[in-house]
Amino acid sequence: MKQQYLGIILHSNLANGRLSGEIILEDLQLTFQQDTYKYSINYSDLQIELGGSNQSLVFLKNKKHDTLTLYTSDKSILKNPIFQNFNELKEDIKKCNNQKNKTRIVLFSIIFIVLGGIASLYFSKNYFIEKLANQVPRSWEKSAGDHLFTTLTSDYIVLKNDSIEQQFRLASNKLLSTIEKEHIKIDLYFIKEPSINAFALPGGKVIIQSGLIEKANSWEEVLGVLSHELAHVTRRHHLRGVINNIGLFTVISTLVGDVSALAGTFANIGGELASLSSSREFELEADETGWNYLVKSRVNPEGLISFFETLQKEEKVKLSLKNKKIMSFLSTHPDTEERINKLKNKKTNVSFQKINMDYNAFKLLVKRATLTK
Ligand SMILES: [Zn+2]
Repeated sequence: MKQQYLGIILHSNLANGRLSGEIILEDLQLTFQQDTYKYSINYSDLQIELGGSNQSLVFLKNKKHDTLTLYTSDKSILKNPIFQNFNELKEDIKKCNNQKNKTRIVLFSIIFIVLGGIASLYFSKNYFIEKLANQVPRSWEKSAGDHLFTTLTSDYIVLKNDSIEQQFRLASNKLLSTIEKEHIKIDLYFIKEPSINAFALPGGKVIIQSGLIEKANSWEEVLGVLSHELAHVTRRHHLRGVINNIGLFTVISTLVGDVSALAGTFANIGGELASLSSSREFELEADETGWNYLVKSRVNPEGLISFFETLQKEEKVKLSLKNKKIMSFLSTHPDTEERINKLKNKKTNVSFQKINMDYNAFKLLVKRATLTK
């Protein structure tokens, strides 16, 4: 067993007020020694205590002479069997050991809390992004969407036929008014594009391709797709995606409580919005929210499932390059199979209202409009 420990003595009479040297444990006393300087405490006068930050030091006090402080950071001194020969010291060491355990518990708790905090921050990232997105005025999203629409329409042939929109609005009246209760105005556009797709722009523009109208078999199927697109708008997926892309922490630090700072950032991300590929979570959330909108509007939501099944039957759905870039109805992630299964688990007991409008007549109307373009 070692009998010597590094120690420090503090006293106002010493040069610098302190001296470091060695604590030597002898049979009846301990002695601090540094060159010619010597200071001894009889074990009968000794008191042992923990102190310092995190109780990391062992203080060796002289009960008879308390103006002098002697301590060591070497806790192994507590294990020295010599102290066990003195009842009072035995008690002191027991107390020290209890204190050591307590400190350890507190330390572990702190580490646990800090790690837990980091973990929960990570997992609640989406929550923060949503909270932050909700601070951004809808009008900013709208101007970003309008700007994007102007860019896109140079590539598209928009079907300018009033009765197409009239018929469509009539059939989707209930669904659209469910959305408008959230104070969002929806603009509808129909474009001549043979591939099967529809997409939404931030702020409320929804673009439906003629190929989708052609492929669908009922109003319920088309409204299923529409409800999904509307959910992208109401759930602010574009904006949340952008915040996620540029980094939540960057956004928070630029904001420092001031939302207007984000205006500049958002104004410059028109290009970024266009390159937003649909995220898996957003697609699933849009399916789920869209389903709920359909139920609320008393439109049979099975249409959403049956349209997915129609798509599955297609040999291979071709996505045009343009469509891959925007949050469009068709996406490769998640796959259609998964989306169908998720929706099939959402059973509902509500009774639905049949849409009493001839879908085939509408299809024909769109077909004719594409031919005259
Ligand atoms: Zn989508």
